[in-house]
Amino acid sequence: MANPGWYDEGRPHLWLPYTQMKTAVPPLAVAATNGVTLTLADGRTLVDGIASWWTAAHGYNHPHIIEAVKAQYDVMPHVMFGGLVHAPAAKLATRLANLLPGDLSKVFFAESGSVSVEVAMKMALQYHLNRGERRPKFVHFRKGYHGDTFATMAVCDPTEGMHAKFAGMLANHLIADLPRTAAEAERFADWLKAEAHQVAAVITEPLVQGAGGMIFHGGETLRWLREACDAAGVLLILDEIFTGFGRTGAMFACEAAGIVPEIVTLSKALTGGVCPLSATIATARVYEAFHSDEGSHALMHGPTYMAHAAACAAANASLDLFEQHDRLSQAKAIEAQLKAELEPCHTLPGVKDVRVMGAIGVVELEAGRNLEALKPKFVAEGVWIRPFGNIVYLTPALTIGADDLSKLTGAIFRVLSA
Ligand SMILES: *Cc1c(COP(=O)(O)O)cnc(C)c1O
Repeated sequence: MANPGWYDEGRPHLWLPYTQMKTAVPPLAVAATNGVTLTLADGRTLVDGIASWWTAAHGYNHPHIIEAVKAQYDVMPHVMFGGLVHAPAAKLATRLANLLPGDLSKVFFAESGSVSVEVAMKMALQYHLNRGERRPKFVHFRKGYHGDTFATMAVCDPTEGMHAKFAGMLANHLIADLPRTAAEAERFADWLKAEAHQVAAVITEPLVQGAGGMIFHGGETLRWLREACDAAGVLLILDEIFTGFGRTGAMFACEAAGIVPEIVTLSKALTGGVCPLSATIATARVYEAFHSDEGSHALMHGPTYMAHAAACAAANASLDLFEQHDRLSQAKAIEAQLKAELEPCHTLPGVKDVRVMGAIGVVELEAGRNLEALKPKFVAEGVWIRPFGNIVYLTPALTIGADDLSKLTGAIFRVLSA
């Protein structure tokens, strides 16, 4: 079918993410979204299994969020946050402080996930500087992913990430394996103690390492990290950009593990996928190190579009929906259905593992399979599923109906069988 004029004219000017523009399958022209459906410019519809990198937790175009954004745009779309504050940001900060466990209560807004991690890292470095200590290093983990900006690239997995390509151009930090047994946890704790003099913080994604391959770990791993950080006097940063807002079945993964980090980062589903927004939230104890009569102790960061008013309105509306609907039960129902319906993939040749946590379903394939070739087959099945690395995964809207979810799992089984 012919593409619309804007596509043929504009495509030569568009540079896509993580894409070899010369050899990649051409992108699809999408015209509209609604619920869990993408409508293409040629009229075809696809059931969306990814929810736009798991941002659209309530499905696309949820009227409650759209109306809140429209109302905010009429009054005040955005205003600089230097010296000025507004109701949508104040309300959102209060709600996040109330939702998060412990005394995670000091909220710094930015506009993207990577930037919120950069802010978390800067907070940790400056926390120690303000207390008279220079601790330039972070401890991060294999298979971790924390963003694409330079400070965050340096704490991503060294082989999956861009370390090799940019060797010598990224900061050097301390890499470790996530402890998965009590013995490994003990060794990690001893090692961290020995390195603590130079370590500002340990950083990880809690329960699920997302972009590194949707790799799961248990709550005990996080409790071990918490204990090791406490014993060594090192801060713990949890990057909940993927896991936050119900994705794992708990509102936040740190709650499921029963621990409180010093700093947490949120983005992705924060606005229900409607506007770009992120937040870095610190405990009162971290904030105390900045709160002084010394001007130079202030946090030196300030994105132009931080606390964008319409984005904060979207996030408040998204939190309303979490209050009005039992999204966590919906995530649990998705979990049960994914477990039942992805299980048969175990028997397919070339399948290495099938795993499910909350509203995350993963089929891991043996290395070497050409996943690029699967992409058009999923489209032909009427679904939007984007394999990466060696995995085919689903992170649908928490509102997806059982029939649409079956369409997604059925498509995975059929495409991998072929
Ligand atoms: C997506 C993601 C990021 C980066 O967020 P951007 O908004 O793409 O910059 C960081 N950490 C985790 C865990 C993520 O899933």
